[in-house]
Amino acid sequence: MDGYNRDVDLKPMDAEQFREHAHKMVDFIADYYKTIENFPVLSQVQPGYLRNMLPDSAPNHPESLDDIFNDVQAKILPGVTHWQSPNYFAYYPSNSSIAGFLGEMLSAGLNIVGFSWITSPAATELEMIVLDWLAKLLKLPDEFLSAGQGGGVIQGTASEAVLVVLLAARDKVLRRLSKNALEKIVVYASDQTHSAVQKACQVLTNYPNLWLLLPNSFVSSLWNLCICQCFNANSFLSRLSLLSVRSLTYDSRNPSGELQVGTTSSTAVDPLLALGKIAKSNGMWFHVDAAYAGSACICPEYRQYIDGVEEADSFNMNAHKWFLTNFDCSALWVKDRTALVQSLSTNPEFLKNKASQANMVVDYKDWQIPLGRRFRSLKLWMVLRLYGIENLQCYIRNHIKLAEHFEGLVAQDPRFEVVTPRIFSLVCFRLLPPRNNEDNDKKLNNDLLEAINSTGKIFISHTVLSGKYILRFAIGAPLTEERHVTAAWKVLQDEASVLLGRL
Ligand code: PLP
Repeated sequence: MDGYNRDVDLKPMDAEQFREHAHKMVDFIADYYKTIENFPVLSQVQPGYLRNMLPDSAPNHPESLDDIFNDVQAKILPGVTHWQSPNYFAYYPSNSSIAGFLGEMLSAGLNIVGFSWITSPAATELEMIVLDWLAKLLKLPDEFLSAGQGGGVIQGTASEAVLVVLLAARDKVLRRLSKNALEKIVVYASDQTHSAVQKACQVLTNYPNLWLLLPNSFVSSLWNLCICQCFNANSFLSRLSLLSVRSLTYDSRNPSGELQVGTTSSTAVDPLLALGKIAKSNGMWFHVDAAYAGSACICPEYRQYIDGVEEADSFNMNAHKWFLTNFDCSALWVKDRTALVQSLSTNPEFLKNKASQANMVVDYKDWQIPLGRRFRSLKLWMVLRLYGIENLQCYIRNHIKLAEHFEGLVAQDPRFEVVTPRIFSLVCFRLLPPRNNEDNDKKLNNDLLEAINSTGKIFISHTVLSGKYILRFAIGAPLTEERHVTAAWKVLQDEASVLLGRL
């Protein structure tokens, strides 16, 4: 490098320079966590704010880490929304933890690219083992374990998990029929299913038939059903099964005591067991997406919500949401790994090696879209080992208890209503419009959301359920305690009083 001073400048990877700089970075991050409550939770900057604060081009000469830290403080942090703040209650949580950090650091430190077993046997084998551990913890059926035909794989996100599953499901159906049966394939999903399913169908452009089944009121799929089936418009059987699926979702409010499935919007639950049976009897691929709430199912008292997963062909949950594993880490299990491999494998000359050719190993490149992959299992392994199952269960239960506390506070104030039954750590609620102003409820709640979030004291998000504008209060940040929830409720009440006073 021209002008590079080997004695002074930062080398690409010198162990002693790394030690010094990484220590400074750890101090910086530790201080950030110590002071995290001083920042507005939702970044208050305007679009394009950073353009004028940074130079037009990269520096010709090295700059110091201290200068960069100063810029992070002055220019970057104002544009950060603090997902790890104890006052963060928006969307769903995206947990960090010391164990998650350490795993992430180790993964970055080793910086391997583990696409085939041979590229780092430990990366493949640890991933298989850790996902078996997690599958056992969730009491998933044995077919999901790596000892048989199935197994687990870590994808970056639930969206990637859904995409590869739809691809495998599509191809499996096509193998049964013929290649030109594409237009006959239908994906059934609840209209409350995460938009990841729609996106997967968009990506798989030959997959036009996404049937979003009508909502079962607020009580809709948390596990986000997605079923793939060969659909023939003239087939009575297919029509019948569609009708059954439809009536089941409609009926899910029936207090039949049957298992239900739930959504990103409201975490309510649908009849997974019954839907699974329909899927199975019609030769469908049945996928269960438990991105958020899957974590809760490590507690025996919440495992009931995935009763019926026994019928599923595939199941995913995001360890990076509510399982103390730093982003990204989305666990996906399949019962038949050949379906994935048949859709996703390539075998170019430059990747051939003895172990792969002899079929002795798993090559995770064939279970995902990209070739390259990170050593993500390290962080999940660290989380499971450094916290242990009992602590992880307490962690989940504590958030659910805090949500119960918040729900109680809302229920006591007659100006508000809790809109959907709470199951996990999300409370859906709204401010009731005054009697003479009932048509104004959407604007009122939207104004309340804006007012609250612009205080910077807390951050919550919203959704629309059956035409009603709903506020979502999702508890799950690792630092959140009861006092934060109580204080957040006070912010909500105060802002509501101001708004109602103006009407
Ligand atoms: N599925 C469900 C049920 C979700 O709640 C979410 C995100 O909240 C997703 C999928 C998408 O997650 P990801 O960002 O990991 O793709």
